[in-house]
Amino acid sequence: MNKRRPPPSCRCTPKHNNKVRLLQGRGYAGTTNDTRKQIYAASSDEDHSLHHTLNTTNLLGSVGQLCSGFFHHEAATTATNTHRRTLCLDPIHCIRAPTTVVVVKVSSVASSTDFVARYHSCWRGYSNSIHAEQFLINDARLSSRLREEPNSTVDLYMTQQPCHYSTGRYMNRKVTGKTSCTERILKWWMKHQEDVGKSSSSSAASSSSSSSTAATTTTTTSTVLNVWLANVFRAYDTETTISNLSAKEANVFRERSNNSCEGLLQLLATRNVNVEMIDAKGWNFLFGLSMNTAAATAEGERKNMDDGDDPSINVQELILRRVTLSEGENKFLKQLKLKSSQTFNSNRKRKE
Ligand SMILES: [Zn+2]
Ligand SMILES: [Zn+2]
Ligand SMILES: [Zn+2]
Repeated sequence: MNKRRPPPSCRCTPKHNNKVRLLQGRGYAGTTNDTRKQIYAASSDEDHSLHHTLNTTNLLGSVGQLCSGFFHHEAATTATNTHRRTLCLDPIHCIRAPTTVVVVKVSSVASSTDFVARYHSCWRGYSNSIHAEQFLINDARLSSRLREEPNSTVDLYMTQQPCHYSTGRYMNRKVTGKTSCTERILKWWMKHQEDVGKSSSSSAASSSSSSSTAATTTTTTSTVLNVWLANVFRAYDTETTISNLSAKEANVFRERSNNSCEGLLQLLATRNVNVEMIDAKGWNFLFGLSMNTAAATAEGERKNMDDGDDPSINVQELILRRVTLSEGENKFLKQLKLKSSQTFNSNRKRKE
């Protein structure tokens, strides 16, 4: 018999390790190499998918957790200006954890309540980790909601875009960068589109069985997938990053960052799929899923503002600042979109 070791299970919050500290409002931090800081506590697969119900008013947890997963911004204000400015909602409780968080919202005119859920990545070592997108794809409740509502809008709010053979660094280059959540998400999305197409053409056929044309009509759905990013991972402004790396690191980074771009191009070239930076409406939605936003914001602001900044800044102004900080990335995505449609058109011409 094949004596295989069982695949590693979730150890985001290992109970056996008393060196692991539970940090108030900060998620969990491991101090050994086999554990990682996590924004959300988890000890099983189920803990990585959380559905929003009327009773869950804080799907994204504290404001520190909201910041860790989405809002936190620490970058040069312009490509030529190296002055880094941090925009943080709660510097005391916000941790810089490598967790990827995805929030999905399915809405349609047919339903008065949106389907909302949160997923986050599970660290199981470099080659066995489960990415947030995998929990989303395997969520049976999400799948059935999508089947029930063929003409819906699906909004994904993500820490960063789905990976595309793009993770890892020089030291772990042999075991990283082997997976693509971009391909996983696209496969999942195409399958959903197909299912919807099938069910609407069969219902069209049954409702008008006398007409032979109905069954052969290819049904187009109006389902749209909007991918909203808090950050662009390794595809934007890469030369600035590369200039600070050693030659070895730079080689690996360049390869992974090219893959990252390729992944974005694949998403952008897909019909009814949009990729944009989170806009003000999206931020308001995410803030609404977190608790005590207003109170925590004020505290974070006082500690983070440059001298001369108005300490009485409110959430809407903060959101506006965050949107402004994403303008460069948004422009970059628009250029990629243009490029993807040009590539698509030239490929089509070649085939003709
Ligand atoms: Zn923060
Ligand atoms: Zn886990
Ligand atoms: Zn991934």
